Amino acid sequence: MCDVVGCGAKSTGAVKIPTFPDVGLCAAHQLAQRHRCACCGRVVRVGAAKVVDGERQVIESEHYDGTHGIDLCAGCDATRERCPGCGKTVGAKNRAVIEGTVPVGTPQVRVCGTCRASAVQCAACDKLVRMGADTRVDPRSVSLPQPSNIDLCGVCVPRRRTPCAGCGKVVKVGVKDVAPLTAYHNRELFLCGGMSGCAGKVSSTCTLCAAPVRLTTGTLTGAIEILNKKDEVVAARCPLDAKDVLAERPKAEKYFDEVLGFMDEWAQACGSSLPTDFRGRVTWQLAGDHELAGDELTQTLGLCVTRGTAKYHNIKVLTHLAPLRFQRTAAHELAHAFANEIGFGTRSYIEGYCNYVASRFLQRVIDRDTTRRAAAAALLAELTGNTDLTYGAAFVKISAKLATSPAEAVKFLRNTATID
Ligand SMILES: [Zn+2]
Ligand SMILES: [Zn+2]
Ligand SMILES: [Zn+2]
Ligand SMILES: [Zn+2]
Ligand SMILES: [Zn+2]
Ligand SMILES: [Zn+2]
Ligand SMILES: [Zn+2]
Repeated sequence: MCDVVGCGAKSTGAVKIPTFPDVGLCAAHQLAQRHRCACCGRVVRVGAAKVVDGERQVIESEHYDGTHGIDLCAGCDATRERCPGCGKTVGAKNRAVIEGTVPVGTPQVRVCGTCRASAVQCAACDKLVRMGADTRVDPRSVSLPQPSNIDLCGVCVPRRRTPCAGCGKVVKVGVKDVAPLTAYHNRELFLCGGMSGCAGKVSSTCTLCAAPVRLTTGTLTGAIEILNKKDEVVAARCPLDAKDVLAERPKAEKYFDEVLGFMDEWAQACGSSLPTDFRGRVTWQLAGDHELAGDELTQTLGLCVTRGTAKYHNIKVLTHLAPLRFQRTAAHELAHAFANEIGFGTRSYIEGYCNYVASRFLQRVIDRDTTRRAAAAALLAELTGNTDLTYGAAFVKISAKLATSPAEAVKFLRNTATID
């Protein structure tokens, strides 16, 4: 029997297709054009008529108008994929069925060749989120306006967005860079672009970390420029280094006192003590960046000058430092004062040693104060990461030597002539 639906004439031969039952056709239908499923290849139509397969099931045939006319069998039709832009059939059984179809995004979505240019993907994870201006493929996705001009899928929408500190353009979503960027300040501060973006417009930088403070378009929000009496900019802090800074002595007082308390405790823990009148002979001020000149690469944060046989110690700490950085500096300078006091202030490794004492202060904060723990750990890491020979390398050596015997620190200073 002819397998064309409703024919009923005698079959005069079979169309053989591997893996599918043969299709029997009558003499008339042998002459008609055969159409195969665009996906699996079985014959589904002869001329304008559908065929019935060997299992006596009707095989659906669907022919699309115009340039995308294709036939699909019932089985393949069940897994049909349509172009999200225009609705044309582009795939079935995970296979492209029309020419020019392209997979877009992760997970892959098939898009017809005509619509591919209008496919918009999530900037953070690559997923296809919309076609052209109106058709949202992911209904929870959003389009961020200028200057960001990116789309985010529903999963990425709640992720943390990091803006360019200059123009507000989103440059990171979660940990993923979504625009060209330049990173500053331990990768916590960002400007968009290379020379063409805000990163190309930097006109002044932070005295502490070289991050941007001012662009040709204006000062970064939160950054500080410190003026002298003639209103000239003598120092600057980037937005991160400008947070909660100590700019006046009254505000800094309690922080300095905390460090003095620490020095007392530390000296005693080392079997020593601060001389009874030590505190009375320590004076200190906040000093401007220009008073504490560094070389062209570094800003000196503090200075300790010990005068006369009576040993008066004058300490200067840089103004506009965040409290913990102020305290780390104060601890370093007080360590100089203490070393001068006991007569070993000129040891070759003294800068590393004073950093070691400062690290003990930071460690005490880490051990006792959860709210300041992370900031203290970051400042401690800065000491460890310092590659300077006198400050960094000597500090690392001394820390290693005293790691298991911190109570020997004062004895170490008295008894060790050199650490090389
Ligand atoms: Zn027939
Ligand atoms: Zn098929
Ligand atoms: Zn399309
Ligand atoms: Zn996404
Ligand atoms: Zn920008
Ligand atoms: Zn800075
Ligand atoms: Zn020093």
